[in-house]
Amino acid sequence: MGKTLLEKVWDLHTVRELPSGQTQLFIGLHLVHEVTSPQAFKMLKERDLSVRYPERTFATVDHIIPTLDRRRPFADAMAEEMFVHMERNAGEFGLEFFDESSGRQGIVHVIGPELGLTQPGMTIACGDSHTSTHGAFGSVAIGVGTSQIRDVLASGCLAIARPKVRRFEVTGSLSAGVYPKDVILHVIGALGVHGGVGYAYEYGGDVFDAFSMEDRMTVCNMSVEGGARVGYVNPDQTTYDYIRGRDFAPKDGEFDDAVKWWESMKSDGDADYDSVVEIDGSSIEPMVTWGINPGQVVGVGEKLPDPADLNGSDRASVEEALAFMNLKAGAAMAETPIDVAFIGSCTNGRISDLREAAKVAAGGRAAKGIKALVVPGSQKVREQAEAEGLHETFLEAGFEWREAGCSMCLAMNPDKLVGEQICASSSNRNFKGRQGSPTGRTLLMSPAMVAAAALAGAVVDVRTLDRPGV
Ligand code: SF4
Repeated sequence: MGKTLLEKVWDLHTVRELPSGQTQLFIGLHLVHEVTSPQAFKMLKERDLSVRYPERTFATVDHIIPTLDRRRPFADAMAEEMFVHMERNAGEFGLEFFDESSGRQGIVHVIGPELGLTQPGMTIACGDSHTSTHGAFGSVAIGVGTSQIRDVLASGCLAIARPKVRRFEVTGSLSAGVYPKDVILHVIGALGVHGGVGYAYEYGGDVFDAFSMEDRMTVCNMSVEGGARVGYVNPDQTTYDYIRGRDFAPKDGEFDDAVKWWESMKSDGDADYDSVVEIDGSSIEPMVTWGINPGQVVGVGEKLPDPADLNGSDRASVEEALAFMNLKAGAAMAETPIDVAFIGSCTNGRISDLREAAKVAAGGRAAKGIKALVVPGSQKVREQAEAEGLHETFLEAGFEWREAGCSMCLAMNPDKLVGEQICASSSNRNFKGRQGSPTGRTLLMSPAMVAAAALAGAVVDVRTLDRPGV
C-alpha cells in the first residue's frame, strides 16, 4: 500500500512519538510575524534560550502595518510597539526580517512562497492559522499558537497529533467567472466549518492540475476555515516552474536534485485515504457567504436559508446569523447592498487576484458611496501590479490603491469597517467583528466578485457583467 504526501513528510520529520500520542515533529521553516511572536520571544528570554535554527526562521510585519501612512512612529501606539518588538527580537535572535524598507515585506503567507522559502516536502510552522496556504506547494504547513511558536523557536520542533487525510477529487473544469475561492467556499459549504477537524485536506483532480500556484494557495489558505489545519496539493511541474529562480530556491544543479526529491514526496497512486470526496468542478458557481462563518454560504443565484425549514441547532445558528447580518430569511443573495469592497488578504491579495479584479473594474466606476480598496499582499505584488498598470485601472474606477499588508482582513490597523457597514471582501473570515467594527458585516467572495459588487453597489453575479476575459 502506498503512502500519501502527508504520511511521507510526517514520517521523514518525526523525531519521536511522544507518550501523549503526539509526534515530536521537526520543522523545516518557521515564519514569524509581529502579532503572535512577542510573547514567545519573551519566554525564550526568560529562560535564556536562543533560537535553535535562526537560518530557518524568517520574520515580517503584516497585521498591524498601516496601508496608507507608514511614517514611524505609527499613529497607533500599540502597532508601533509590536513593530519595535519584532525589529528588536529579529535583531537580538539573528533572524532575517523583511520590514517595509526591504522591498520584500508583505503578508507572511504571500512572501514565503514568492521568495521561494516555501518548498515541497517541507514542514512549515507559523503563528497564524492560515499557514495552511503553504501546502499548495506540497508542504505540510501548520498554524500554531504562542506556546508552540516558543517551542519551534527554541527547539525547531513541535508536539502535534498526526491528522488523517481526506482527498478531494475535483473533476472537469470550472466555468468562466468561477474561481478557486468559489471552490473552497463550495467545499466548506458542503462539509461545514468543522468537517475537516482532525484531517489534512489533499486537493487534486483535473481542476487542481490546471490551477496555477496562486490558485492552489487560495484553496489551501482556507482549508483551516473548513476545520482542517493542513491543506495541500501534490507538487508537479507547475510547482517547480513557480519556485525556479526565486530568491531562496535551490540554485543551478541543486534545483534538479531538489525536483527529484520533491517528486518522491507526492502521494503514491495506490495511497490509502481516510476519506475521499468527489466534486464536479462544472457544478460550482460563484459563491457568497451570507452569515457569520465561512460555511454559511450560497451560490450567488441562490436564496438565503429560512430557519423555518430547519430544526434544533441548525435553526438557531441560521437565526443568529441572519439577525446579526440584518438579512432576511429566504431573500435572494444577489442584490444585497454593500458599503465597502475590500480586495486583498493572504487568500486573494496576489498578482493573479488583482489581475482578475482589474479585468472587472476596467472602464467601470465604483458605485456612489462605496468605499473600495485594493491592498496588495506584498511589496513585490504591488510593484508587479504597478508595472502592469493595474493600479491605474483601479484608481480610474474609483478604488483606493494601498501599500502591502493584512489591512481590512482583520483590521488590526487603521483599515476598519465603521458601525454596521457591510463589506464585500476577498478575505477568509466573516466572524462577528472581524473587520474592526463589532457590528460590521462581511460577505466573502472572489476578488472578481468583489470588484463587481463595488461597481454595482450590491452583490452581483460577475458572469452577468459584460467584461472581457471574465
Ligand atoms: S491577511 Fe488576514 S488571515 Fe491572512 S495573515 Fe493577515 S490577518 Fe491573517
